[in-house]
Amino acid sequence: MDLGIAGRWATVCAASKGLGRACAESLAANGVNLVINARGAEALDEAARAIRAANGVEVIAVAADITTPEGRRAVLEARPDPDILVNNAGGPPPGDFRDWEEADWIAALQANMLTAIALLKAVIDPMMARGFGRIVNITSSAVKAPIAELGLSNGARSGLTGFVAGVARAVAGSGVTINNILPGRFATERLAANLAFVSRRSGRPLEEVRREAEARIPVGRFGEPREFGELCAYLCSTQAAYITAQNILIDGGAYPGTF
Ligand code: NAP
Repeated sequence: MDLGIAGRWATVCAASKGLGRACAESLAANGVNLVINARGAEALDEAARAIRAANGVEVIAVAADITTPEGRRAVLEARPDPDILVNNAGGPPPGDFRDWEEADWIAALQANMLTAIALLKAVIDPMMARGFGRIVNITSSAVKAPIAELGLSNGARSGLTGFVAGVARAVAGSGVTINNILPGRFATERLAANLAFVSRRSGRPLEEVRREAEARIPVGRFGEPREFGELCAYLCSTQAAYITAQNILIDGGAYPGTF
């Protein structure tokens, strides 16, 4: 399927690895030029080189912390007024809510709520003026079904979800869509770190924890980042113009509800 977005520009945050990188790769495979971002320059430059070589698109790499105003400014200035924005940042650490101080909550809100809102605010008016825009926020299945040890994520991402529900409808009709993709469990470094935390906390071998986690997923395995990236690219397509204000789970059937 031709997604109708070749030649457009996308800004993909937190994209040197994992789900953000997969989104960047799928967009590039559809001819989209990219600004990609992460804090670590080495992995980011490697990602930029690989994506350029595989797809022949332009890729601008901006090494910066997207959760800071300076980082966001650098990313936005690299190529102003993107057609597509993929909001992403590292997830907050797992833990027990009794151990979290106000500063931990502020950091989680910055990374997983306020950064996405600031970037959306910076790009949306030009998108509306041009009559085309796609904003995709990477959130988490934790928004629909909380994950006990990820309380910071459960809380901060729900805040972003509530905001998006309102603004997506307010701008609908301008050619701009805003959707959230809710990953279940995908085989990335982040997932490996979360499984290691559960293993340490429970004193059980990591392999046992991993097998048990996979067995709880009806599809019987963790998701491949590529599967996530392809969904993101589709939501950014011309064909997806009628999909907005949605929270789309991609979790191998793990969420047990009917709706
Ligand atoms: P990952 O494999 O650890 O990759 C994270 C990427 O984000 C890396 O490129 C990292 O590069 C970059 N990054 C992290 N913090 C950043 C910051 N402050 N500024 C700029 N870039 C930053 O993680 P992932 O699994 O792809 O997860 C992506 C998001 O989805 C996270 O918020 C995670 O909590 C959420 N999620 C993931 C899963 C899953 O199963 N994987 C499930 C639910 C939700 P640097 O470290 O070099 O900056």
